[in-house]
Amino acid sequence: MDLLKIVRDAESSEFSPRNLPYCVFSPPQEPSARVGVRLGNFLLDMGVLESAGLFKQAALGPKSVFNQPSLNAFIACGKTAWHEVRRALLALLSGARRPPGGLSFIYPRQSVLLRLPVEIGDYTDFYASKHHASNVGEVLRGKDQRLLNNWLRLPVAYHGRASSIVVSGAGIRRPWGQTRPRDPNGPPEFSPSARLDFELEVGYLIGPGNSLGDSISIKAAEDHIFGLVLLNDWSARDIQSWEYQPLGPFLGKNFATTISPWVVPLEALQPYRVAGPKQDPAPLPYLQSEQDGAFDIQLEAWLTPPNGQPHRLCYTNFSYLYWSMAQQIAHHTSNGCNLRPGDLLASGTVSGPEKSERGCLLELTWGGDEPIDLGDGNQRVWLQDGDELTITGWCEREGARIGFGSNSGRIIPAHPSPQH
Ligand code: CA
Repeated sequence: MDLLKIVRDAESSEFSPRNLPYCVFSPPQEPSARVGVRLGNFLLDMGVLESAGLFKQAALGPKSVFNQPSLNAFIACGKTAWHEVRRALLALLSGARRPPGGLSFIYPRQSVLLRLPVEIGDYTDFYASKHHASNVGEVLRGKDQRLLNNWLRLPVAYHGRASSIVVSGAGIRRPWGQTRPRDPNGPPEFSPSARLDFELEVGYLIGPGNSLGDSISIKAAEDHIFGLVLLNDWSARDIQSWEYQPLGPFLGKNFATTISPWVVPLEALQPYRVAGPKQDPAPLPYLQSEQDGAFDIQLEAWLTPPNGQPHRLCYTNFSYLYWSMAQQIAHHTSNGCNLRPGDLLASGTVSGPEKSERGCLLELTWGGDEPIDLGDGNQRVWLQDGDELTITGWCEREGARIGFGSNSGRIIPAHPSPQH
């Protein structure tokens, strides 16, 4: 295959050389997995390129970081190594470096199996969109308690579950769970969730972490971010609303979280950096930054009913986020909590000011009161069996796009009995 022709064809795609997102894949008929980089409709096998000496300048160490079934070894190397690898790749793609002769390192995208790109140690989900938190607060507690008084002072979050994070394409089994008693004095229900929802979020992967007891300053925080993914925090609202007080989300959230297979490097997103919302009151000094901390990433969620057409549910933007990723990291580690390579942090649902910019059904249907018309005679309040939910994301300037690809999951019926 002619690499330079592939580069030319990729120029107009969302996976152009400006992007170069990482993934973990298995080549055709091979069970083993290794690290790849997407280019147009193809993947570059980073293990082969590493073995051929392409990344010598990056000083990645004596052991291979790309012939690995996860990105963890590479992302632990840190920002300088990430940059040197990107530079070497760009030199290869511009024709300034010769491709390794006689080696097969290019695969058509459709021929490979994509895997979860990272071994996730810990997963933290923030709640950093003011529009989302205000809408949910109003639905659950009424207009005068939209935001609790800690919300404007710190990025609220909870510790999620890493074991149930799956890659795009995996089916999502409707969960069983306890829900609020119909008779306030009676026992709770125990049944498959009837209020299954999605949450449109952006996740980011931690590269080098911090030692237990140390903290990461807001100035250094972005140095710890390797790259970003699209994330769907599947949510069972009926289970959640019964269980969440006083300690927060548990079984209403931890049955599944889906991430996209492509990890877009933070370095590729630098041209799309913008100012986030003005913060009033001013945060405490450890959360203050002089650098713009938001990124202009356009986001959409689509619902495809069984045998139906995709219907766009919402269209929003990552730059609406009130608390930046840097603020989230500075806050997360401010008590000495240690982040580690491969940790996944997520933004929380990204909602905007308009009704069409709400990033979950709880907001879009206003607690279930306002069904959504799918345009084909179907309506939805919550997700039904067989529905497919897809999140897409991209950055665009002057017609040139950097894409995140898509994040999809289809709802599988609940097990027939609670003793599954
Ligand atoms: Ca969430």
